[in-house]
Amino acid sequence: MTQLTNQGVVIQMQDYSIHDGDGVRTTLFLAGCKLRCQWCANPESWTQQQKLVFYRHKCIGCMKCAQACPQKLMPCEMLRPNKKCMVCGACVHVCTQKALDLACTLKSVDDVMKKIERDALFFRYTGGGITFSGGEPFLQHNFIRALLVKLEELGIESWVETCGFFDFEAVKDILPKFSHIFLDIKHMDRQKHIHFTGCDNKIILDNAKKIYALGIPITIRIPTMVEVNLDDENLKNTAIFMQEHLPNADIELLPYHELGKAKYISLGMEDKFVAFTTPTQEQMNHGYEIFENHGIQIVEYR
Ligand code: SF4
Ligand code: SF4
Repeated sequence: MTQLTNQGVVIQMQDYSIHDGDGVRTTLFLAGCKLRCQWCANPESWTQQQKLVFYRHKCIGCMKCAQACPQKLMPCEMLRPNKKCMVCGACVHVCTQKALDLACTLKSVDDVMKKIERDALFFRYTGGGITFSGGEPFLQHNFIRALLVKLEELGIESWVETCGFFDFEAVKDILPKFSHIFLDIKHMDRQKHIHFTGCDNKIILDNAKKIYALGIPITIRIPTMVEVNLDDENLKNTAIFMQEHLPNADIELLPYHELGKAKYISLGMEDKFVAFTTPTQEQMNHGYEIFENHGIQIVEYR
């Protein structure tokens, strides 16, 4: 039975996004993901638990936060593993420097729609719309379902970025409502996929085929790290999989970057950060050549 949920856990809503699909878009990042990719740049998205974020570089040491905090925590104490922080947000509200923030907050359909309605003009003039992202957005499919009803009423089109690791049966009724789907294939080798992400790739590859069978335009994205998946064997296997099962899908390679490191620090999770090597332009071009040689169309949104 399909369900609608009026509330969802939102990491962030990003306006004027030009990298998550056609035109100007608003990207809605929904919390929660079952994968634990070692290169993940959004560790705040792993769980739906509300979290305090501290941007150390913005702090001017005024201590207004410590005065407002019911636990009288100093900024340097807030993110410690033994912290007494209750994630109440009192410190966030008094920090004039925006050095503190809450990630993963509960929002209603109305909260989200109010913001989207403000951006609707930009969508109309640029051919944009909404892109659901995450985390893995389909973990909150009941919230997405409720939002899609409102978006359809306003004639706003929706795209989605998924890691592919979701329950197809639970979302198959809403998939045709998306104009375009981005799906990640992080590695074709099952064991390596488990090693680098903590999850089997079988569900992801099966879901890619099932989405394709519905006739929805699909872009396969590969976040590329030299040590992980940029070898010829993996790229050829991905290209062959696409040629056989998703012949009209296109491909985008996303080079690894280290921008996520600041996020780990701001969440007090620096011990979880793993550095990889960013591919050179030459390595990226070589990767694209492999897909071209298999007749696969290349796209670049980023
Ligand atoms: S209120 Fe903000 S700027 Fe002031 S000490 Fe706290 S975190 Fe730093
Ligand atoms: S979120 Fe609440 S408990 Fe945690 S540091 Fe801020 S004021 Fe203190």
